[in-house]
Amino acid sequence: KETNRDGYRPMFDRFTAFYLRYVYRRIKDCWNYPICSVPGSEVVLKERVTNDNGWTFQFTGSKRKCLNLASYNYLGFSENTGPCSEHAIASLYKYGVTTGGTRQQNGTCEIHRQLERLMAEFLGVEDAITFGMGFATNALNIPALIAPGCLVISDEKNHASLIVGIRLSGATVKVFRHNNMKHLEKVLQEAIYYGQPKCATHTPWKKIVIIVEGVYSMEGTIVHLPQVIALKKKYKAYLYLDEAHSIGAMGRRGGGVVDYFGCDPKDIDILMGTFTKSFGSHGGYIAGTKEFISYLRQHSFASAHAWAMAPPLAAQIVSVLETLMGRDGTDEGRRRIEQLARNTRYVRLRLEQIGVIIHGCDDSPVVPILVYLYSKIAAMVRILIEHRIATVGVGYPATPLTQGRIRICLSAAHTKEQLDYALDVIEKVADELGLKYSRRPRDLT
Ligand code: PMP
Repeated sequence: KETNRDGYRPMFDRFTAFYLRYVYRRIKDCWNYPICSVPGSEVVLKERVTNDNGWTFQFTGSKRKCLNLASYNYLGFSENTGPCSEHAIASLYKYGVTTGGTRQQNGTCEIHRQLERLMAEFLGVEDAITFGMGFATNALNIPALIAPGCLVISDEKNHASLIVGIRLSGATVKVFRHNNMKHLEKVLQEAIYYGQPKCATHTPWKKIVIIVEGVYSMEGTIVHLPQVIALKKKYKAYLYLDEAHSIGAMGRRGGGVVDYFGCDPKDIDILMGTFTKSFGSHGGYIAGTKEFISYLRQHSFASAHAWAMAPPLAAQIVSVLETLMGRDGTDEGRRRIEQLARNTRYVRLRLEQIGVIIHGCDDSPVVPILVYLYSKIAAMVRILIEHRIATVGVGYPATPLTQGRIRICLSAAHTKEQLDYALDVIEKVADELGLKYSRRPRDLT
């Protein structure tokens, strides 16, 4: 029917209405465990019971401490202990919880500038600008850089914040298959010679921007950065790299995928990242040349019209950066980076041996375990919680409907005993739910 009884056109398309009414309703509880503690290597969740109808629930008032495999706490800086948190608390007393306005008006504190200088130095570029929210960093800066008449070439698995930014920009978009360099080159070639003979010397686009991520949070894959850089140079395109999941977590110094591959940071025109993962804080940054960053300070919606980052959050990031750069006089930063890499490889290899299907590269701390069937997402999350393990179930619309998965995120804060416990439970659950799809587990001996 085109309209309902009152003459309204439907709010949702038919598939969405069906999905909300019959599918999502039965499994939505697996996303709804309010947290009652610091989300560190362990986390306390609110207990609840399922009602007689089988799919609604109510909270019981008691709490359950779980091993936390759900947070992006890659380097373990989310814990509220240690010098980083002390700096954040000191800054709370010095500056207060909030600032006086937007960065362009009266919201810039000295801690913001200190953070931006340190971030630029850490990344090996001239300057950086920070924002109060990672999502808005993408969504509100892309429209300041890209306009109608430009072409964006975007990886099909790019994050929603990038997609929102690209749509807001009004640019033309072409999507290439996830991490597929051959397809990226094909799309670039088609774009350059769009309707022209192959010998044409100029492209019809104002500029071409390739947008990729460092580590993809739903896939656990790592971008083929050296190849992307080679292609961007060959076809004279700009490169926008979102390091939300890779900054801190990848590379020998924690410098992200740029550091991991040993690339020159100056080859990436727009270096973006967030502070919500490895830094245990909040907000985002964009880094690049002085001229480029000063343009953003004036033209970005996020700098002109959005409140600046809360000073205690900035202080936490400054302190994490100092730890990663060894300026705190210890090698705690390096220890955490190495511990994360060890934990990642260990868990990935054990999961392969168990026989579940996991996605992504050996070095990626995001590990999706494929369960495929939608109903198994909820079942697995619930059973793991019963065993005091918190994970994230990921399904439609974040993945295709038939590609449901459980995602675990590793942290330097996880101990070997904790990981062994989780792996033993996952093996049992995989047997119970029939998840051992892989026929070729790797030989670990
Ligand atoms: N970019 C990517 C690739 C992300 O995965 C996310 C969210 N996890 C963001 C940007 C948005 O960052 P935030 O959650 O810090 O706002």
